[in-house]
Amino acid sequence: MLFLTKFEFLFFSGLYGLIFGSFINVLIYRIPKIIIHEYDLTIFDYFKSHLTIRLARSIEPLKARKKIRNLIKSTNDTQKYNVFFPSSYCPKCKTSIRFFDNIPIISYLILRGKCRTCSSSIGVTYPAVEFISMMGSMGLAYLIVLDYDFANSRLILNLVFFNILFLFSIAMFVIDCRFKLLPDALTFPLGFLGIIFCTFEPSHIEINESIFGGLIGFLVLWILFWLYKFFSGKEGLGRGDIKLTGALGAWVGISNIMDVLLIASLLGLLTSGLMISLNKHSYKQTIAFGPFLILGTHFVMIKEFLL
Ligand SMILES: [Zn+2]
Repeated sequence: MLFLTKFEFLFFSGLYGLIFGSFINVLIYRIPKIIIHEYDLTIFDYFKSHLTIRLARSIEPLKARKKIRNLIKSTNDTQKYNVFFPSSYCPKCKTSIRFFDNIPIISYLILRGKCRTCSSSIGVTYPAVEFISMMGSMGLAYLIVLDYDFANSRLILNLVFFNILFLFSIAMFVIDCRFKLLPDALTFPLGFLGIIFCTFEPSHIEINESIFGGLIGFLVLWILFWLYKFFSGKEGLGRGDIKLTGALGAWVGISNIMDVLLIASLLGLLTSGLMISLNKHSYKQTIAFGPFLILGTHFVMIKEFLL
């Protein structure tokens, strides 16, 4: 190692993962709100909006009403948002969260998952995201850097880019599961960063493989989207899925993007089948495809480039 022992390197990687995990939580919570504010949707518009119709179609009527009501409640405050403003506050009692109650995972454990002021429960997603982020960045540090005795700048650059992909993935995974939404604010920069990565690190894949990977990923899903719409009159795939596949294609390259799609489809079918057999889902419902694309990409990235 440069000037850190292996243990110290792993420790700081975990710390870095925790801090960024905390930031990812802010993105997960705010980006959907910012999107809805941008279109300036009133409650009525929001009911009629495409997003809600898709949501309503995909969940059971009883659950749907409750879920939509909760969604509107959480998005119908007039507060303007961006990623840094306002500072975090409890969604129930609006009390600002003080810095010592905002320590990743630890605060959640100390407060036993409840707001200090109003005791309403804090979602388990927050500490879960921080934990996964911490474990992921430690795992990446181990796989990419710690196998070598000297951390050169090339390895560190690799580590930074793999971390970026991982952090974007967590944010999109959770947002897509919750809202069936893959924000352009995440998919576009991710694709761009994939191309940058391959420019700096051609031993991963060449830049032309990256660009064609993105194009082919986008095209394959775009064609599937329109074929499905043509024959069934419905939208089986989200438009965000098309952009996400393009972005991921830029990371894995043209030689791997079809593997990603294959793994994602298999995982999606398996999950769908499991949910139907457990009576949690009906045949007519759609499930978010983004999480499976993300899982497929990580499987390919680990197998092809890290092991
Ligand atoms: Zn509160």
